[in-house]
Amino acid sequence: MFHELYNELYKHYGDLQWWPSESDDETVIGCILTQNTSWSNVKKSIDILRENDMLDLKRIREIDETKLQEYIKSSGYYTIKTRYLKNIASSIIDNYNKLEHMKNKDFNEIRSFIKNIKGVGNETMNSILLYALDYPVFVIDSYTLRLFKRYYGKEFASNDIKTGVEQEFDGNIFRLKNFHGMIVQLSKEYCKKKPECNKCFINNKCIYFSGNSK
Ligand code: SF4
Repeated sequence: MFHELYNELYKHYGDLQWWPSESDDETVIGCILTQNTSWSNVKKSIDILRENDMLDLKRIREIDETKLQEYIKSSGYYTIKTRYLKNIASSIIDNYNKLEHMKNKDFNEIRSFIKNIKGVGNETMNSILLYALDYPVFVIDSYTLRLFKRYYGKEFASNDIKTGVEQEFDGNIFRLKNFHGMIVQLSKEYCKKKPECNKCFINNKCIYFSGNSK
């Protein structure tokens, strides 16, 4: 059932190359910075970190906290995010030395390791597992819940969506990555808090739209 929505979105968006980053370290850093803030604010911090050659977990682990706070100020909650960044960088480096060493390992070991890092909630954990480490999990966020409720015309529990998509997509990392990216994109462009259904390219299949356009 979720494939059909994927295909509709894919016809319009194609490969969005999601997550927008140049390295796995940058992805992890972005996953922490994007908590409770918009991507445009995160992007400013990422640009500053890039200019200062800091998109690297080993360097994040070593950098002075005040300096890091200054670099990531635009992402908001910068004191706490600085702590979270240093925390995740130290945990990964101390235990695995680099992200590469966390790939192709026992999934439950890596999942429970990330889950236990302070500052990492479910959404951040799943984003890191999928986008930085290539494990076949689906990322659910508030955009996903809102879109699915409208499109399918019923309330879903996050876990039902997660399990359903993971089963249907059967380990296809590209689809899992792209699906979340396309959902975010659609939610920003059309399926906003106040949806712009008349312009939306999937309105002919959407229960919410059909119910409201009669
Ligand atoms: S038609 Fe409206 S409610 Fe349905 S997915 Fe598009 S924007 Fe969202």
